[in-house]
Amino acid sequence: MDQQARDVPLLVDVVVIGAGFAGLYAHFKLRSLGLSAFGFEAAPEVGGTWFWNRYPGARCDVESLDYSYSFSPDLLQEWRWSERFATQPEILQYANHVADRFELRRDYAFDTKVIAANFDEAANQWVVRTDRGDQVRCRYLLSAVGGLSLPKAPEIEGLNDFAGRWVQTGCWPREPVDLVGKRVAVIGTGSSGIQCIPLLAQDAAHLTVFQRTPNFSVPAHNGTIDPDYEARVRADYVEHCKRNRYTKGGVPQRINTGKSAMSVSEEERLAKFEQAWGFGTFALQSVFNDTSVNPQSNAAAAAFVHDKIRGIVKDPAIAEKLLPRTFPFGTKRMCLDTGYYATFNRDNVELVDIRETPIERITKAGILTTEQEYPFDLIVFATGFDAVTGPLFALNITGVGGVRLQDAWKDGPQSYLGLTVSGFPNLFTVNGPSSPSVLANMLQTIEHHVEWIVDCIACMETNGFVRIDADEAAQVAWAHEVADMAEKTLYTKANSWYMGANVPGKPRVFLMYIGGLDRYVERCDKIVSEGYAGFNFTAGETNSAAQVGVAAMTGAT
Ligand code: FAD
Ligand code: NAP
Repeated sequence: MDQQARDVPLLVDVVVIGAGFAGLYAHFKLRSLGLSAFGFEAAPEVGGTWFWNRYPGARCDVESLDYSYSFSPDLLQEWRWSERFATQPEILQYANHVADRFELRRDYAFDTKVIAANFDEAANQWVVRTDRGDQVRCRYLLSAVGGLSLPKAPEIEGLNDFAGRWVQTGCWPREPVDLVGKRVAVIGTGSSGIQCIPLLAQDAAHLTVFQRTPNFSVPAHNGTIDPDYEARVRADYVEHCKRNRYTKGGVPQRINTGKSAMSVSEEERLAKFEQAWGFGTFALQSVFNDTSVNPQSNAAAAAFVHDKIRGIVKDPAIAEKLLPRTFPFGTKRMCLDTGYYATFNRDNVELVDIRETPIERITKAGILTTEQEYPFDLIVFATGFDAVTGPLFALNITGVGGVRLQDAWKDGPQSYLGLTVSGFPNLFTVNGPSSPSVLANMLQTIEHHVEWIVDCIACMETNGFVRIDADEAAQVAWAHEVADMAEKTLYTKANSWYMGANVPGKPRVFLMYIGGLDRYVERCDKIVSEGYAGFNFTAGETNSAAQVGVAAMTGAT
């Protein structure tokens, strides 16, 4: 159901951009402060990721019981997930349920994209403009635009010539896409491709998968949730979620030896890998504690997956093409699948290794590689996102001195804690670069960031501060710490979107804090307990929304 756009105010205390899980929770929390907040959302409804990614097979890879808001004990208890890893429609339904239950839609303009945000230094206000011609002033700007909300444009020449239809997983059409009897191509074998390929293969007459880099994927073992486990979680749900926040990945560590893979016998190592493979989730990555740092342990995990692939895929030549060999195990996001490798045993599925035979162009009929032309009715681009920085740049933000965020970040993003950016006062970024974001359960990272931001705003209001800005030296120190941590791991060896390597020309910078959600949360708490160490506050006249309104109405910008 599309939601009605409300009248857009001229002035507001906080503008929130985005109505995914982050934007919705920000609205909920800001209301409790008694501040006025108004949101803009490019989509016609709430849900963010789960509105846009409607491709067949889209579902979470964090268990549904954990991929849930934890702020309301009632909400935790009343919502029941039907599967261990919920589908996109069910997660979207959940987002809508939350929006209804807490009346979160009423302060949003939907179908409205923010196209500019400029900091007015004299007034300590942001001036936000939209593609609908709205202009709103606010004291605080809260970006909840999501790190995976800007799909990469298809980069392959000739698309305009294609006579068939093409779609992207990251903005899949709302109406059903007809696959029956169709010759379908999928380009891309990341998490999105790996989730949709088995289902597309079931419906299409013929499916051709164009693979540039094979990925590591483990079976999700989806199904109904184990009732005993669910009962245990529900008996203690609030505490369960609190404990999650103080884990590395924001989820319970259910299979974890706490040992190096090299410290145990080969027999024990394989038994543990087997247990993790049989369990699903990211257990294969965390069952030993050194998989992401010790090349030998990492190679052992990779070899284990290789053997699994060889065991599932009947044609040895196809199996070999599916073996990931060009990056360490887990350093690109590991995929969770349902029947992915077995899909290549189907008669109607073909794998094209485009490193062997690169795509030359898209033609009127289909896709031309260096080897042959493949005719298609439908091309599916599962080619990923301009992650983390892309959606922020699309806001066209200018800070102090009119500096563009793009220019400030031309060598890679610089952020203090992933929450704020020096020179861009009163701007908060949920899951900004150099925070844990996708390296942990994002419902947890979102709740933590939103709570930190709202507490910070509350502190400013109480103390009569009108401006917060990250200290540049603190930001530089944070960037070094984040980069040093990443360098100690194998993650920086991969050409992944984590490194910005999937977008031509993007600076090669590891985009996340890899020290774990637990350490990160403790660090943020410590910074607050030290009087917001690394932040500069400016006291001044509280330019409340009412005063801002006068300025806006007299035309001052
Ligand atoms: P989003 O959900 O991305 O919402 C941001 C919203 O901002 C969007 O609706 C967008 O339209 C809007 N927006 C952006 N720019 C503008 C603008 N300029 N003007 C107006 N509106 C704008 N994470 C997990 O932890 N577990 C998972 O299992 C998981 N699965 C995922 C599956 C897929 C297919 C994808 C793509 C991501 C997945 N993620 C997962 C990450 C997921 O993005 C987060 O879990 C979470 O949904 C992010 O919420 P958000 O509100 O921060 O951002
Ligand atoms: P992705 O991981 O970046 O994968 C994109 C795929 O497209 C890669 O195989 C890539 O190959 C290929 N590709 C990109 N550009 C190409 C080009 N020009 N020509 C040919 N191939 C090209 O993107 P994604 O699969 O959408 O996933 C992004 C992230 O979203 C995930 O890492 C995860 O965080 C989240 N997600 C989660 C789930 C889930 O299971 N819950 C599902 C979907 C997405 P190269 O590797 O060679 O670049």
